[in-house]
Amino acid sequence: MARYTGPKCRICRREGTKLFLKGDRCYTDKCAFDRRAYAPGDHGKARKKPSDYAVQLREKQKVRRMYGILEGQFHRYFEEADRRKGVTGSVLLGLLETRLDNVAYKLGFANSRNQARQMVRHGIFQLNGKRVNVPSIALKAGDVLEVHNRSKKNLVITESLELVARRGVPAWLEVDPANLRGSVKALPTREDITFPITEQLIVELYSK
Ligand code: SF4
Repeated sequence: MARYTGPKCRICRREGTKLFLKGDRCYTDKCAFDRRAYAPGDHGKARKKPSDYAVQLREKQKVRRMYGILEGQFHRYFEEADRRKGVTGSVLLGLLETRLDNVAYKLGFANSRNQARQMVRHGIFQLNGKRVNVPSIALKAGDVLEVHNRSKKNLVITESLELVARRGVPAWLEVDPANLRGSVKALPTREDITFPITEQLIVELYSK
């Protein structure tokens, strides 16, 4: 399935929550969800009780779209989480959270996960001293992510770091803004993922 390239705000309106896909704009009064908090389309305002399946599907789509992951890959993450020890839903969120593009975003090197993914693809990061360009790389405790010397004057990164104060850097990460470097202090626990997600609905959906 191809990556969605339509209006990002439409996704938030469809999923019924702010997914913060457009960086700084999401915190301003230009946010489309704040203005029109109902689903897009002619019947967006119509109220009908969703089925259990619809609720589960929407939760899965919400998480998948928030992390910007394609359907097949998301399903593979679920299968991996199911194989590992622990509560499947929490393991799944942990796998998504430790993706390289998500960590770069959470450290404040990019304004959105989408922007972080593009930066990774352009090879502007080094992981433990080696250049990387695969957004899905899973980071471990102790890993160090750093902006490559050649990109240290990149204005997008400097501006993003100024704005990260608004959303805060999670406790499992540590950022050194002066050196454009960040590290994973420990793997995230379920409590570290504060965005409202009911992961059990995703487990139920895939367990049918
Ligand atoms: Fe979603 Fe609002 Fe950001 Fe648009 S501006 S992506 S609606 S949070």
